[in-house]
Amino acid sequence: MQPKELLALAEEFGSPLYVYDATTIEHQYNRLTTAFSKVERLRINYAMKALSNLSVLKLLKKCGSGLDTVSFQEVQLGLHAGFSPDKIIFTPNGVSFEEIEAVAELGVQINIDNLSVLEHFGTKHPKVPVCIRINPHVMAGGNENISVGHIDSKFGISIYQIPHVLRIVENTGMHINGIHMHTGSDILDIEVFLYAAEILFDAAKQFKELDFLDFGSGFKVPYKKGDIETNIEELGKKLTKRFLAFEKEYGRTLTLAFEPGKFLVSEAGFFLAKVNVVKQTTSTVFAGIDSGFNHLIRPMFYGSQHTIENISNPKGKERFYTVVGYICETDTFANNRRIAEIKEGDILCFKNAGAYCYSMSSNYNSRFKPAEVLWKDGKGHLISKRETFEDLIKNQIMIEV
Ligand SMILES: *Cc1c(COP(=O)(O)O)cnc(C)c1O
Repeated sequence: MQPKELLALAEEFGSPLYVYDATTIEHQYNRLTTAFSKVERLRINYAMKALSNLSVLKLLKKCGSGLDTVSFQEVQLGLHAGFSPDKIIFTPNGVSFEEIEAVAELGVQINIDNLSVLEHFGTKHPKVPVCIRINPHVMAGGNENISVGHIDSKFGISIYQIPHVLRIVENTGMHINGIHMHTGSDILDIEVFLYAAEILFDAAKQFKELDFLDFGSGFKVPYKKGDIETNIEELGKKLTKRFLAFEKEYGRTLTLAFEPGKFLVSEAGFFLAKVNVVKQTTSTVFAGIDSGFNHLIRPMFYGSQHTIENISNPKGKERFYTVVGYICETDTFANNRRIAEIKEGDILCFKNAGAYCYSMSSNYNSRFKPAEVLWKDGKGHLISKRETFEDLIKNQIMIEV
């Protein structure tokens, strides 16, 4: 999107504001399906925890996407947005048995990542097909080294425990219809991804009635110059080849599934905030914006570096600024960054603000969550209102004290 268009949206809808470009989301979705177009049965399940606005869900549904969910409430939101239960997969970690049962009851595919839960579920509901989430114990170690690690991760059933899984399946008569892995941010390049895929194929061979193999996500998008980006096109070529060979070996057609969050929505998002104060101290020039980690916590939480542009003065001379928020805590968005000269009242634009930004926002300091706008067909559509004082107090009960 152009700085001018974003600036106009900040004027129309106020700040701070989240803006999502529909075209970018569609483009990323199509990139992924094109990269795997030789796979007969491909399934993309958008990991909705990245950005769970109903209109964004509808947009992805229109693209042909399914949903990856991690809570009963996400499943409810998905159904509310019009997804049918068979287009939703539930991949929770550490939730109650009752929650898993409640989701399965809706006809949603469940994915189990714990032996005791698997045994309990298989005993009680032997007819409900279940996917298992394995932990391939793969992570990128050092430079190009692939190492076996994360033996302690809380996610997944260890590949070393597959014999135990097989025993549970035999004893309960349950049906395992999918094998899943999601190693998240451990996977940095394609070779590591393919290495983990081999482990998944190996595990899959031991189950005779699979319908799908789910390779999770962990695709990287660049946040700043020089960042690693997953080359989806190359991964598509290499994994497709390997997948087709596996199908032959396995003796039946399988669905190849992915569940990207960040890849689909990160780059589509822009966070717009107004500069309240420019403050020169003895050593630093601070630009203080009308937001904080209550609206965008990733820089403080993960150290993620969002590119920041001054869209009010895009051609201005670059100077060094430390961009901070208005929260009564240290809430530094960026340290000594080169940004086009900033005046009070200017609008700063944070890039890559689609994934894990609004969905992680809070009311800390009793601030309202920002509004969200979907940019589609050259127009900004309000898709969630800025909160009001009513929202802050709606669940509170003021008792006589
Ligand atoms: C969060 C999550 C994803 C999405 O990860 P991204 O890095 O955003 O692509 C996929 N699968 C599961 C199980 C997840 O928890």
